[in-house]
Amino acid sequence: MSESDFTVVRAVGFLLAVAIAVSLQRLTPHARLQGSWRTNLGLWAINAVVLGVVCGACAYTVARWAGAAGVGVLTLVPVPRAVAIIASVVVLDVVSYGWHRANHQLRWLWRFHRVHHSDTTFTVSTGVRFHPGELLLSLPVRLSAVVVLGAPPESVLFFELIFAVATLVEHGDINLPARLERRLAQVLITPALHRRHHSKQVTELNTNFGTIFSLWDRCSGTFKTNASVTDVQTGLPGMNSAPGLFQAMRLPVRYPTGT
Ligand SMILES: [Zn+2]
Ligand SMILES: [Zn+2]
Repeated sequence: MSESDFTVVRAVGFLLAVAIAVSLQRLTPHARLQGSWRTNLGLWAINAVVLGVVCGACAYTVARWAGAAGVGVLTLVPVPRAVAIIASVVVLDVVSYGWHRANHQLRWLWRFHRVHHSDTTFTVSTGVRFHPGELLLSLPVRLSAVVVLGAPPESVLFFELIFAVATLVEHGDINLPARLERRLAQVLITPALHRRHHSKQVTELNTNFGTIFSLWDRCSGTFKTNASVTDVQTGLPGMNSAPGLFQAMRLPVRYPTGT
C-alpha cells in the first residue's frame, strides 16, 4: 500500500469513526450537551493542515523503512505477521498511555495538553480538541516507538483506525447500560471512564489515562471506576467556561481564570 492509499484509508476510517461516535451519542445521550464544536473543529482544521504538512503519513513511511532495513525488535524475532500486528497495536497503546501520563506530570507538556481539558462540555468533538503543539511534540515519541518496535506498516494503519474510534467514542456524551459499561471497562476505556479523566477535580484528572485498553491504568494504579449515569463537572480548575479558538491557541502561555 502506498502512502497516498494509507492517507485515503485513514481519512475514510476517521469519517466512519465520527459516524459511530455521533450515532452512539444520539442514540444513548448522557446529558444532551451542545458541545464546543466550533472551537474544537477549528483546532481540528488547524491540526489537519499542520500535521498534514509536517507528517502526513510519516508513521507509515517510517514503519516501511524499518521493515525494509530490518530495524526494530519485531523484524529480528520470527513471529507470525498477525502476532506482530496485534503486539504492535498493544505496545503503541502502552506508549500512548505513558505519553498521556507525561502530559499531566511535566508542567511544560501540561501547558499544551490543558487545551484538550479546557472543554467544559464533553462530547465527541472534544476528541479532536488538541493544541497543534501537543500533536507535534508527540510525533518523535510515536515515530521512535514504531522504529524501536519494528512495527509492520499495516499495524500502524490498524492502530490509527482503532485509536480514532476509541478516542472519538470515549469523548462522547454517551450513557452505556450499567452492565455493559462494567463489562467493557474490564478491558477497554469507556466514555464514563474518560469522562472522569476530564473532571475538574485534580484527584480525578490524574486517573484513567488510557485510550484503547484499561489494563495499563489497572496495572499502574491510575484506574478509577465511573458509572455511565454519574455526572462529572468537566473542564479546568478555576475556569468556568470553555475558551474560544483564539484563547485555546494561546492557552499554553496564558491561563485565564474566572472566565
Ligand atoms: Zn489528559
Ligand atoms: Zn480526553
